[in-house]
Amino acid sequence: MTFINSKQIFKKRVLVVGAGLVGMTTALRLAQSGVQVVLVDRAKPATGASWAAAGMLAPAFEAADEPSAHENLFELCLAGADAWRGFAPWLQAYSDTSLDYFGMGAFACAINEPQENRLDVLEAACISRNLPCRRLSGNKARKLDASLSQDVRSVLLLPTDQQIDNWAVIGALMAALAEAGVQVIPDIKITEINRIKSKWEIAALGLFDNVIWTAGVNSGDEISIDGQPAQLLREGVIIPVKGQMLALDPIEGAPKQVLRFGNGYIAPKSTRVIVGATSEWEVADKAVVDSDIEELLKNASQICPVLQDAEIKMTWAGVRPGTSDHAPVIGWSNYDGIAVAAGHYRNGILLAPLTADILTRLIMEEELTPLEKGFELARFNEGGMATKTTETVE
Ligand SMILES: Cc1cc2nc3c(=O)[nH]c(=O)nc-3n(C[C@H](O)[C@H](O)[C@H](O)COP(=O)(O)OP(=O)(O)OC[C@H]3O[C@@H](n4cnc5c(N)ncnc54)[C@H](O)[C@@H]3O)c2cc1C
Repeated sequence: MTFINSKQIFKKRVLVVGAGLVGMTTALRLAQSGVQVVLVDRAKPATGASWAAAGMLAPAFEAADEPSAHENLFELCLAGADAWRGFAPWLQAYSDTSLDYFGMGAFACAINEPQENRLDVLEAACISRNLPCRRLSGNKARKLDASLSQDVRSVLLLPTDQQIDNWAVIGALMAALAEAGVQVIPDIKITEINRIKSKWEIAALGLFDNVIWTAGVNSGDEISIDGQPAQLLREGVIIPVKGQMLALDPIEGAPKQVLRFGNGYIAPKSTRVIVGATSEWEVADKAVVDSDIEELLKNASQICPVLQDAEIKMTWAGVRPGTSDHAPVIGWSNYDGIAVAAGHYRNGILLAPLTADILTRLIMEEELTPLEKGFELARFNEGGMATKTTETVE
């Protein structure tokens, strides 16, 4: 891996707006491709959804897509997991930081009939997509993982689903960005962009060949372009989806791999055991409600009783950038030279390195694959609803 030194002639100058995982990985990839990059955030870098996440890299869970989901979201998620397979070992070695990147798979657990029916659907979807999976009785699953309670009736093993410590990734990326020569500027809120010939000017930051909007749940409708109110993404495309979570202190007897059940999950890291998450559509506040946290812990303890004895280390809420088809928008905006990557909903950690690759090829004027082209802004109508515009990619 080569990095740019100060004498290098840059191919382009690009501004990346929003230093979540999507913006940070994109800035890094661009810098590694010979682009001079400025990465700004209206707050401290990576204090939005990327910090709030559980760090699951879970393509198999997307296999049983809901009827409204983008028809190729599952394929995109698989490609996202592939991208991590190359990126995580590199970042781990490069930063000399453990990222807790596990390929241990996940257990989807059922404790009642509706949950077993859901596992049936997920199992059928995995099989139809040639994705490895294995159904076990509760007793067989308890032999593999003694943390499971007697209430667990059956389990679907999902060997493709992995996880990573997103907090460790953020630290490692900050170091890599500095090394790659990316200028990272906190506490700058971008509200105004002006065209100067073929370039874009941002006050105090200068001229850029391209701007990339990676501002998470902020869809950019407060922005003005050439003095006019502008919309980088159509109104209504990005839908806030609040998620409350808690972290427990690590405890003896906790599971070693991710456990999923109903709408919840347990994601054990070296330094904490994450229990998540609420899913509150069209809610954008970050308030933590005690009764919701109690409910999350109660449900998790029913799957894994040892968690009842663990101390709560922290509680928090984050806001996922959702879309009507649960899939991200990655591509050009309606403005020449301004790209967007937003709406990663519950898969933004999984999809960050892949999104960075796609955006880098876009900026370098390289061809995108048919799969990647299916996630452009054009699929949304005036009301912000996704319409079916793509062919299914086999
Ligand atoms: C509770 C919860 C659990 C989750 N679990 C997972 C998981 O297990 N796996 C997974 O893959 N995904 C998960 N997600 C989803 C994932 O966190 C998001 O999809 C992803 O973090 C989005 O990344 P981002 O970089 O687009 O946005 P963010 O991380 O939100 O970053 C956007 C940044 O843009 C900045 N910004 C906004 N407006 C401006 C402006 N005008 N000027 C400058 N900067 C600006 C913000 O300050 C912010 O730092 C979870 C999310 C939540 C909330």
